[in-house]
Amino acid sequence: MPHSTTAPHSFQVRGACPHDCPDTCSLLTTVENGVAIKVQGNPAHPHTGGSLCTKVSRYTERTYHPERLLQPMKRTGPKGSGQFAPVSWDEALDDIAARLKAIAARDPQAILPYSYAGTMGLVQGESIAGRFFNKLGASQLERTICAAAGGVGLVHTLGGKVGMRVEFFAESKLILIWGSNSITSNLHFWRYASQAKRDGAKLICIDPRKSETADKCHEHIALLPGTDGALALSIMQQLIVHDWLDHDYLARYTLGWEQMRERALEWPPERAAAVCGIEASQIESLARDYGAFANSDQAAAIRMNYGLQRVHGGGNAVRLIALLPALIGAWRHRAGGVLLSNSGAFPVQRMVLERPDLRGGRPSRTINMATIGNDLLRPASPAFGSAVEALIVYNSNPVAIAPDSAKVVAGFAREDLFTVVLEHFQTDTADYADYVLPATTQLEHWDVHSAYGHTDALLNRPAIATVGQAWPNTQIFRELSRRMGFTEPCFNDSDEELCRQAYGDKVDFNTLLDQGFATLPMPEAPFAQGGFPTPSGQCEFFSQRLADQGLDGLPDHVPNHESAGSSQTYPLAMISPPARNFLNSSFVNVTSLRQSEGEPLLEMHPADAAERQLQDGALVRVFNTRGEHRCRLSLNARARPGVVVGLGVWWRKFGLDGHNVNQLTSQALTDLGNAPTFYDCLVDVQAA
Ligand code: SF4
Repeated sequence: MPHSTTAPHSFQVRGACPHDCPDTCSLLTTVENGVAIKVQGNPAHPHTGGSLCTKVSRYTERTYHPERLLQPMKRTGPKGSGQFAPVSWDEALDDIAARLKAIAARDPQAILPYSYAGTMGLVQGESIAGRFFNKLGASQLERTICAAAGGVGLVHTLGGKVGMRVEFFAESKLILIWGSNSITSNLHFWRYASQAKRDGAKLICIDPRKSETADKCHEHIALLPGTDGALALSIMQQLIVHDWLDHDYLARYTLGWEQMRERALEWPPERAAAVCGIEASQIESLARDYGAFANSDQAAAIRMNYGLQRVHGGGNAVRLIALLPALIGAWRHRAGGVLLSNSGAFPVQRMVLERPDLRGGRPSRTINMATIGNDLLRPASPAFGSAVEALIVYNSNPVAIAPDSAKVVAGFAREDLFTVVLEHFQTDTADYADYVLPATTQLEHWDVHSAYGHTDALLNRPAIATVGQAWPNTQIFRELSRRMGFTEPCFNDSDEELCRQAYGDKVDFNTLLDQGFATLPMPEAPFAQGGFPTPSGQCEFFSQRLADQGLDGLPDHVPNHESAGSSQTYPLAMISPPARNFLNSSFVNVTSLRQSEGEPLLEMHPADAAERQLQDGALVRVFNTRGEHRCRLSLNARARPGVVVGLGVWWRKFGLDGHNVNQLTSQALTDLGNAPTFYDCLVDVQAA
């Protein structure tokens, strides 16, 4: 229930941050006279610790934004023009249902949902929406855009998206922060790492960019993008040749060590250094630091994040890094091991929420969200099936965030594509919609959350009444279901009932109601004595499941599709991590946050700039065969030689020429998981 504060008309409501961030903070929203006046971190939630990032502490600015969509809108101008006129909910939904029925009568698979983590909520994500598309028999979306390569890598190594409990990083004595700008993207992990640092731990950041996090670590290893697997192999080689190994752990709790050992021995530091673009001595030093914790009563820990897996070999790189703790027996300690994601620990009842049984055995085509640029332009064919005729977008902004924008935009601009977008704002994607439907924000609806950076389930209660005519996603799909003639009782489930269904009896709902979060029962050191959730029960150097798919059962370094130094025409490798005040494409339209970022920037090393006679602050064009993006040059010492950093993800309409960095990124996929390769992208730069 809401908690009254001092003034009778003022109370606080517990919620959960819905954004795609490992921290999944517990929120406290203060409401006065029906208006949310403040959103802050819940001090009672240990992982949140009473603090939020800058982005979400501005959540009231976002909720009451003057450009918030407050009523259904119908397109009146050309696609992409952003010209719309208000219509009633009935008019919009009646027409949408009629259009979908007509398409479904020909082939329901010509209809495609497109959604991701605009909210991470289980209810406003794929609950009624999942039921709707399953009952319809629509094409299925392969949701790969962020985490699929690393997720599949973990599954084939540790057995699931599982790892250390984040709170125990505070007790580690060595922390490798690998592919993560934690201060920007995992702030509440950084609290634990900072505690460890105060207690004497050494922190080493491994990242092509000298990030804000790298600034605060003891060492920074600025390897070339997509070479993390080579670095991990060479660390293994050093652990082997110096016998910094926990032989007992390897013998008892791992599978395929002898084969892995042979492969790792092929990677002396000199070889890896040439691939990674660093000094061999840096690898030797890193391995020495890590190897010092073999058979130790103190612990070394690795915090990976998803940046490193957005390259061709991302899945293998995650496998190799996730194997390192087994070599030194780090899993024996609660403060040792590795964490990329703990989302696999949550007992989400997806079958109940999404009801795949409603598909009724009909054929189902899957379309990868990472290749939407190609797939919207594909004509009907026996191999592909029907062309996509209708697209329902919710919790995502694909025109801004999908790779290879020129193709994505061409697809969305198809006059014969019927597009419906559920949104808070008139995004780049909404500009291409036939109907834009106003959705509620997290302050206005119920939801239940899992997390991937800690192990607490959270409940989000609505704090305020819906703003304008906005509806929760669930209500929009419920009303559409009714108009489509779907009569199953599950389409009538209320949001609170859906919240209860999300975990069933696996998480105590009363605890969620009482305190807003519930900690999953998990061992402190989950793999101290093996027990990995792999088919073998071991930590798998060798994966029979990968071998059965015709893939290499052992992990290896897989070079980028577009490796640094492989092209004279495009000699610079570009990565595009999120700008500090944005979260993917969310918050770009929040004026105060956008003003903090200023303009779209490209960070470049002074030596690369001098070679091109470019000055700090110059307007530049970044280009490759896929397109061109204009932005402002920043020589702020964060980029290493040969690498440029295009901070993202700006909305195209806020860019300098109506583009963003995804004008340059490709639709090539990763080795595992069919994920996009945003950070595997060669470019060159000139003065604009
Ligand atoms: S974006 Fe992350 S750090 Fe910020 S409030 Fe949400 S969960 Fe917390």
